[in-house]
Amino acid sequence: MKQIFAPWRMTYISQEDGARPGCPFCDLPAQGACEDTLILWKGPAAFVILNRYPYVSGHLLIVPNRHVDDPVALPPDEWAAALAVVPHAVAALREVYRPHGFNIGMNVGRAAGAGIDGHIHVHVVPRWGGDTNFVPVLSDTRVIPEALEVTYRRLLPSFERLDQER
Ligand SMILES: [Zn+2]
Repeated sequence: MKQIFAPWRMTYISQEDGARPGCPFCDLPAQGACEDTLILWKGPAAFVILNRYPYVSGHLLIVPNRHVDDPVALPPDEWAAALAVVPHAVAALREVYRPHGFNIGMNVGRAAGAGIDGHIHVHVVPRWGGDTNFVPVLSDTRVIPEALEVTYRRLLPSFERLDQER
């Protein structure tokens, strides 16, 4: 007889997957990649989302799918998969925004300025000479010349190509 309902299995899967209800980086991917969630791309180990509170237009986050609050807790292969998206994010931002440089990095823990400190993520921030200096980037001062939906629509085509390249 074929077993079609196995609640123990569901519990097992959600524990293994580690998704934490109430965490935006766990909840949003379940709603799909769209303008509402601001998710530009979803991969097997990581996804790319626009920062809802960007320092500058085009501020992206690369987020491992696994809910961990410590870089040490993410398995190396999942790190590799997440970081493999960095060059694509840089290329997409270059194509659309022609920035002069980038800040790429992480704030780990509340003390380091992490807005969502329960689920690690990598910031990719395009920079222009004279946009703002690095002090406002680390504080709450923001310059947002473009609506998030506009940014989303401008960047989406290059992330759709990411799936075709794989
Ligand atoms: Zn999470």
